[in-house]
Amino acid sequence: MIKEVAKEIKRANFCIALTGAGISTESGIPDFRSKNGLWSRYDINEYGYLDSFLRNPKKVWKMLLDMIINFRDAKPNPAHVALAELEKMGYLKAVITQNIDDLHRKAGNKNVIEFHGNFSKLYCMDCKTIYNINDILTKIELENLPPKCKCGGIIKPDIIFFGEAIPRDALIRSFDLANKCDLMLVIGTSCVVYPAAELPIIAKGKGAKIIEINKEESMISHIADYKLIGKAGEILPKILEEVKNLP
Ligand code: NAD
Repeated sequence: MIKEVAKEIKRANFCIALTGAGISTESGIPDFRSKNGLWSRYDINEYGYLDSFLRNPKKVWKMLLDMIINFRDAKPNPAHVALAELEKMGYLKAVITQNIDDLHRKAGNKNVIEFHGNFSKLYCMDCKTIYNINDILTKIELENLPPKCKCGGIIKPDIIFFGEAIPRDALIRSFDLANKCDLMLVIGTSCVVYPAAELPIIAKGKGAKIIEINKEESMISHIADYKLIGKAGEILPKILEEVKNLP
């Protein structure tokens, strides 16, 4: 099936990728819903919602620190690198990612839409001053969480909690790409979080082919034209090799 998928990628006029937490597990970042995922350690209701953050920012910041230090130290894995190479070769037009870990950019992808924000940017919830994660991490004191702005406001990472709106620009651009593409690679996402999970359904409705790469079946497996079950870090480099070898 790898060869067929490589042919589809070469044939496509406008191929894009939608990625989720699963593409980064091989970089040492746990996903949310797998057996050892984040939600097995932290209760989604107590940590995952904007309300949770507003109610108890100190407690949620402890989880955020745990995540952020992991993100900061993580390196792109062969799946990220293969996508960057496909973009460089002109076959992949954009990556829409639900991830906040910055690994697609670190791998070299230029056209990345971050649907749920990026951990490395933070802002003051009152005066909206922007901060960089390295500035915050050097000053942060565990006993003094949450970090505060000079104005006294609480600093929040620029990431989307459940109950928060998707950034307008990311939403418009992603839906536009889903409408326009003729091939979508759906990689390492359970497709249970909306509205991101709608993107493959929109693309399929417009006639695009769907290639799914996942360790297991997901909520969109039934609409996939090709299902590659396994690790993204093993499958994507093989697809890339095949794309390079095809005439
Ligand atoms: P999810 O946890 O719901 O699903 C992950 C999916 O990836 C599962 O279907 C799993 O089978 C698959 N998977 C796991 N390892 C894989 C591998 N090596 N190769 C291929 N597939 C693999 O994640 P999601 O669908 O992205 O859910 C949504 C939320 O999780 C997003 O909002 C995202 O912001 C957030 N999240 C992001 C990160 C990150 O930035 N790396 C980490 C955890 C959670």
